[in-house]
Amino acid sequence: MNTSLYVVSTPIGNLKDITYRAVEILNNVDIIFAENPRHSNILLSAYNIKKELIAYNDYNYQRKIPLALDLAKKGKKIALITDAGTPTIQDPGYRIVKTFIESGFKVEPIPGPSAIICALQASGISTDKFIFLGFLPKSGSKQSKLLLKYDRDATIIIYESPNRLKETLKNIQQTLGNRYVVIARELTKVYEEFIRGYIEDVIKIIEEKKIIGEFVVLIEKNV
Ligand code: SAM
Repeated sequence: MNTSLYVVSTPIGNLKDITYRAVEILNNVDIIFAENPRHSNILLSAYNIKKELIAYNDYNYQRKIPLALDLAKKGKKIALITDAGTPTIQDPGYRIVKTFIESGFKVEPIPGPSAIICALQASGISTDKFIFLGFLPKSGSKQSKLLLKYDRDATIIIYESPNRLKETLKNIQQTLGNRYVVIARELTKVYEEFIRGYIEDVIKIIEEKKIIGEFVVLIEKNV
């Protein structure tokens, strides 16, 4: 069976973090479905990839999945990319992948960066077992419930936005105690930074300087 949908990982910051295979696939497909075509154009121009781009996101997937299926039925090859990293990881994409599989089309992954693994691999925290909780709920009590539910013998990984980071860290401290954490900031970008320490100290650090950008938070298991 020929592949109809390629799920292609793209960089999470540094444009060089793309595989030869990803570039080849993006050059060879007929159409690229992208979370934000304007954003993806920066990457595609850097690699001189000239393809038709169709916006596919959480707001339009109900219209865009039938369109993608229609194209696949006509024999067109489609690539799915997101703004950063691996499609479907806290990104739109899961629904189109599921629909293609259920419709009998072959779906192929083209592996590459994801902020989860990138943060983990240089964190210095145990990687034997880890649990990814995505973005935590906004409510403190819901956050605590979720953290307690998954606080097992494993590193916990979450994504967080700059305006909620301090609040979330305080809540993690209240819920799980003064754990060792790593904040992986702006991975693969110019201002990449790892802030490592016990939550109490890390909160002081981020209170002292304005922290902006994108973050992954890793929480060491209770040792
Ligand atoms: N699909 C992406 C992946 O594979 O990692 C994740 C997309 S999710 C919508 C965006 C979140 O991922 C950001 O809010 C941040 O928590 C994390 N993230 C993405 N790029 C990052 C980077 N360069 N440095 C740190 N965190 C990043």
